[in-house]
Amino acid sequence: MAAHLVDFHCHLDLYPDHATAVAECERAQIYTLAVTTTPKAWPRNLELSQGKKYVRAGLGLHPQLVSERAHEFGLWESYLKDARYVGEVGLDAGPRFHHSLPQQKDVFTRVLQCCADAGDKVLSVHSVRSADIVLDLIETHLPAPRGKVVLHWFTGSQTAATRAVQLGCLFSVNLEMLRKPTHRTLLSGLPLDSILTETDGPFTNSGSRPSQPADVNAVIEELARLRNLDPLVLRDKVGANFRRLISDT
Ligand code: MN
Repeated sequence: MAAHLVDFHCHLDLYPDHATAVAECERAQIYTLAVTTTPKAWPRNLELSQGKKYVRAGLGLHPQLVSERAHEFGLWESYLKDARYVGEVGLDAGPRFHHSLPQQKDVFTRVLQCCADAGDKVLSVHSVRSADIVLDLIETHLPAPRGKVVLHWFTGSQTAATRAVQLGCLFSVNLEMLRKPTHRTLLSGLPLDSILTETDGPFTNSGSRPSQPADVNAVIEELARLRNLDPLVLRDKVGANFRRLISDT
């Protein structure tokens, strides 16, 4: 039997019916990291993921919201003891959010320091136009034995990708990335051991509707084509990468 699919970055709480979105992951047996954008969303996400086999909740404070919600960092910190997974966190230096970059760096640094102090956290990290700074902060504040980092929708340079691999980071790949020639070049060279899949639903589309976790199957198929692999081989590989990531050792 093929390995279960993995959607390592999906906003299940932003679909019209959160509980149904969680139930659907369980029914379809898709390992899903339900990331959140504000710590206020954490209690409900935790509640809906408790006792579930396939859905895990991530404790987040999205970089695009930091300028309005930096004051929620205390709340984020208070919930961290109940969270093995952290996300969505990171930096966004795109034109709309560049103004809050100093504040974002401050919050992300504190996130990394708290995760390093606690140990054994797994993070889903946003790094729009800021891959080098994100990697600098990870290297300084959350070096490999203190935590595990998955770079979500990574669009940094080849040099930054190589450095991320050396730092032990993984990459969660979505279909949008596979539509861009420059990103395809990057994805064609990533070590297979470092690859996970994601939808970032509902912020990406599959056809004319918002992506759902089951749509990671299209990522597997397209990435397998790019890498000249049998899709089932790639699916098994991603499943093995996921198991290795979440294991305690
Ligand atoms: Mn996201």
